[in-house]
Amino acid sequence: MNDILRKQFLRHVAQTSPAPQLIEVARAEGVFFYTPEGKPYYDLISGVSVNNVGHGNPAVVEAVQRQAADYMHVMVYGEMVERPQVEFARLLAESLPEPLDTVYFLNSGAEAVEGALKLAKRYTARTEMISMRRAYHGSTHGAMSMMGAPEGEEWKNAFRPLLPDTKAISFNCFEDLEQITTRTACVLCEPIQGEAGVRPPKDGYLQALRRRCDEVGALLIFDEIQVGMGRSGEMFAMQKYGVTPDIVCLAKALGGGMPLGAFVSSQKIMSTLTHDPVLGHITTFGGHPVCCAAGLAAMKYLQQNKIVEDVERKGAMYESLLQDHPAVKEIRRAGLLLAVELGESEKLYKIMDHFIEEGILSDWFLFCDTAFRISPPLIISDDEIRDSVSMIRRCLDRL
Ligand code: PLP
Repeated sequence: MNDILRKQFLRHVAQTSPAPQLIEVARAEGVFFYTPEGKPYYDLISGVSVNNVGHGNPAVVEAVQRQAADYMHVMVYGEMVERPQVEFARLLAESLPEPLDTVYFLNSGAEAVEGALKLAKRYTARTEMISMRRAYHGSTHGAMSMMGAPEGEEWKNAFRPLLPDTKAISFNCFEDLEQITTRTACVLCEPIQGEAGVRPPKDGYLQALRRRCDEVGALLIFDEIQVGMGRSGEMFAMQKYGVTPDIVCLAKALGGGMPLGAFVSSQKIMSTLTHDPVLGHITTFGGHPVCCAAGLAAMKYLQQNKIVEDVERKGAMYESLLQDHPAVKEIRRAGLLLAVELGESEKLYKIMDHFIEEGILSDWFLFCDTAFRISPPLIISDDEIRDSVSMIRRCLDRL
């Protein structure tokens, strides 16, 4: 580690916590990144479910280089016809269930959530917005307003007042669906909760949520920012459960490693953003051509190489190779997103240090500090799974 660079990082790059990981990255390839001294780390976070096609994926690198040479930013979003944007929107529309066929590109997950909330208010002319307890949707004011209580309260309290007319119900609680009424503009829900520590829906829950929203005329918004683009074992988690929302938010892996977010809806709903007022939602950089070229290449790579088809098997392999370890209390899993439950936060903090020594990058979850995360690039090989499991088991032995 270059000491001067580390000091400058701490002095001049705004910090988000008193304890950053402070590993210097020299380069990254496949499922590894390397320090300047050449120490490899297994990336079991994927930049929090971003690098689904692996670091330095040649198809993505080539698309970025080609598009950067052709043109980068030309005009604010929505005015010019930019081929990478159009082709990516068409591919997403073809791959999502009907009627999700109109894509609004932005720069990040939080922005996708902001756009979706505004669209729901505009379309329904209602104001109440409901989210789920222990949900994370981003850090901007609107997205933070939808952060699920009670765990989110500590964050929210420091930044109040936030958006009015928001409330949280419990994910997987059928009785709470009664709280969705004709006053409700939208319900925002991760089909599989990520930062709550990987919580899949109970049988029939998402279907019941869909039914309730239909009964009262509220829009259902799925946040697939973390679990979309193949992570769950389907290209989109909604396909696992056969439930189609009115709006879906995508980001993270959407850009193949470049910053890109999107909310997708039907043309009928989305078109309300074009009038009363015109320019109802605008962005300068949203749908940047280089980011769209990268995202398009990444999604085609997933499809052409049948990567998603193998995600469930690979996730199950991690689960079966780890579940018999005595330190492991439970494994919660959706595709290649695993929460390995240790039952105590002290153990978790300890194992994080062991992981770094061993050459593994993992972390915990915003609303669950007793479980560690396994969410490697989806292209990880069976040998790499076995090898990383041996390293994890060595760390578990030391607890
Ligand atoms: N929604 C979910 C489910 C997330 O996991 C995240 C980020 O972790 C976000 C939204 C926010 O995305 P971004 O950090 O790109 O704003």
